[in-house]
Amino acid sequence: LRREGFSSIPNVTWKDVGGLNSLRKEFNRYIVQRIKCPEDCKEYGLNMEAGFLLFGPPGCGKTLIAKAVANDAGASFIHIKGPELLNKYVGESEAEVRRIFTRARTNSPCILFFDEVDALTTRRDKEGGWVVERLLNQLLSELDGADQRQGVYVIGATNRVEVMDPALLRPGRFGKILYVPLPSADERVSILKTHAQSKPIAADVDFDTLACREECNNLSGADLAALVNEAVMAALEEKWDRMDRGEISDSPRLITPLHFERALAKI
Ligand code: ATP
Repeated sequence: LRREGFSSIPNVTWKDVGGLNSLRKEFNRYIVQRIKCPEDCKEYGLNMEAGFLLFGPPGCGKTLIAKAVANDAGASFIHIKGPELLNKYVGESEAEVRRIFTRARTNSPCILFFDEVDALTTRRDKEGGWVVERLLNQLLSELDGADQRQGVYVIGATNRVEVMDPALLRPGRFGKILYVPLPSADERVSILKTHAQSKPIAADVDFDTLACREECNNLSGADLAALVNEAVMAALEEKWDRMDRGEISDSPRLITPLHFERALAKI
């Protein structure tokens, strides 16, 4: 499943995504419904953007959203990492771009996800620019072949939209630009709860208060996931210490506010 460029329906669902409701709505109309109701789109002659760019700080759910969209739509998902496309296929990146789009069409409906897509544009004039230039042109020509792009939706992700080659941002390419921000306090609560799902959390752990703590102010989704994991680790360490001391009891060991305090100190 993890092999690069391999296509399959991801197992990430919207339940795994905290917050980001407006993006969910956008993608529902822009991609999910179009895949689910192709007849309606045809009947109404809908002709809408099929290329998206998610931008924003690292660890805020860009990859997660793209996977949840594919899962929701029942579409296959191809994950391409910009820098790998450049380095792994030196000299044959253009052919690889062609292969990727062919694979996407064969597996349609398909979400073609280009992670760190800025890597394909920034080195255009510097050393190695030749490869990037030709790769970029190949990519643009595939993106422009909209007629043959039936059922293939392209989502790019970047932390640095300002360095993107403007040619890539035109309509029909990565034309619809969507910002994925750091989570708000409410969204932090939702992300914490998402990651706490199916974990033995004590009833007195109050995520609403936790998410409003000053230490949590600028945390990303990835940081919040790490916070929950640290709390789990603290609870486990405590359990293992007890076992070392021979104090094994049958009572269930929960993850308590104290474990979250320890986790906060670490993050
Ligand atoms: P990067 O720019 O570094 O590639 P990204 O925006 O693509 O980051 P993701 O890979 O989607 O970020 O998120 C990394 C991890 O952080 C996820 O696997 C998940 O555990 C957690 N995470 C981030 N955002 C959220 C969210 N909104 N809800 C739940 N978990 C999240």
